[in-house]
Amino acid sequence: MDPSGKPRHRAHVLVLPYPAQGHINPMLQFSKRLVARGLRATLALTVYLAGSMHADPSSSIGLETISDGYDLGGSAQAESYEAYQTSLRVAGSRTLAELIHRLDRSGHPLDAVIYDGFLPWALDVAKQCRKMGVVFFTQTCAVNNIYYHVQRGLLPLPLPVSEGNVRVPGLPPLKPSETPSYVYKLGLYPAFYDMVINQFTNVDDADFVLFDTFYELEKEVIDWMSANLWPLKTVGPTLPSLYLDKRLPNDTAYGVNLFTPTTTSAVSAWLHRHPPRSVVYVSFGSMADLDPSQFSELAHGLALTSSPFLWIVRSTEQHKLPRDLMDSIPSEEALILPWCNQLEILASDAIGCFVTHCGLNSVIEAICLGVPMVAMPQWTDQGTNAKFVEDVWRIGVRAGADEAGLVTSEEVERCVREVVGGGERGREVAESARRWMETAKAAIAEGGSSDQNIDEFVENLISHASTE
Ligand code: UDP
Repeated sequence: MDPSGKPRHRAHVLVLPYPAQGHINPMLQFSKRLVARGLRATLALTVYLAGSMHADPSSSIGLETISDGYDLGGSAQAESYEAYQTSLRVAGSRTLAELIHRLDRSGHPLDAVIYDGFLPWALDVAKQCRKMGVVFFTQTCAVNNIYYHVQRGLLPLPLPVSEGNVRVPGLPPLKPSETPSYVYKLGLYPAFYDMVINQFTNVDDADFVLFDTFYELEKEVIDWMSANLWPLKTVGPTLPSLYLDKRLPNDTAYGVNLFTPTTTSAVSAWLHRHPPRSVVYVSFGSMADLDPSQFSELAHGLALTSSPFLWIVRSTEQHKLPRDLMDSIPSEEALILPWCNQLEILASDAIGCFVTHCGLNSVIEAICLGVPMVAMPQWTDQGTNAKFVEDVWRIGVRAGADEAGLVTSEEVERCVREVVGGGERGREVAESARRWMETAKAAIAEGGSSDQNIDEFVENLISHASTE
């Protein structure tokens, strides 16, 4: 009730992630935090994606769909990524507006659209429909500050490779190869470049700016961005509450899987047969497309370490495994799965190290579960994340690539042994990982930096909504 005795308006937000696993997970999790604070949340996925989901999100969150053009054009596959982006924007804008109008008529009118930074057109639609627009960035502040500087012409491209370090305010000096691949390898991925840079074309019009990171992790750049760009709020980490503060009952998993995970019992039985911190967990996330020669080097490198390993190889990638080698390793020493519940694996005592592509979700999950990493970045923001893992947070070792861009088996072996081999570097990264785990959990626990930011965001949203 408000002071006049009228029932208080329950603010309703529509949450719109970019249609990929690493974007849906954090935005769905953030929605759960909002629902726990009394807001109504509706998650909108694209029709095509919703059809390939393997579980429904938490029942307290409504699920709706918009079109990405697949279902309209009748084609299952866009001709190119450019074509996909265009159809997503065109079909998505129209069907998002229709969805907003439908929700308005449903008895639970909408107050705000919380949209993924990769979908800046959603802000234009929200404004046309007279709703608040809240941008949610699923990459680090460091990475986004680089993109911001490029978009505003403050970091001229191509980078002056011969002149040494790249300087961006709030960030440590970066080698050009430590900036995101879209910036460093200019021209190689034009559609992706446009997508990450265009995030900042209309950002100044957003009512709130949220980041899936936490203050302590990126203090310097967050202080700079808050003082110079917008009053941003960090709201992470966004893992299920079970792995953090345990304050949200039943929030034990992300609840959306674009691939079918192998059952937990089979995996945990295998893990249980190994001593604590002995197993190397290897995953390159939902999108990486490794070269067969890289598969071979990685497999041989893992075999050289003599550590047991659990490797996620999506079914479409399994033909790239070196069959003879894999067949020669006993099943107790190597478990290959197409997809798993990564959080359950990282939380297992048996895991000693995570060989990762450094997608931000994987990095944050490793931080929250205290698992040291071997960083093997492939593209996009992963090289920048890997730089922070090794040099800033000091929770892992970066594998270096040779001139051909290949991480050799010897290099894989060296890095894994450094992390799990019991030497000084391994002890140092394990200790930092333990400390960062505590800091990450404290950020989202009651009174922590992100917990306070979410409270303030909800209060501001409700007061804006009630004055509309
Ligand atoms: N993931 C999972 N099972 C797997 C591999 C990955 O559930 O077998 C999840 C992982 O926990 C993370 C997401 O998929 O939340 C991958 O996101 P990330 O940002 O690490 O990489 P991307 O897939 O976007 O490259």
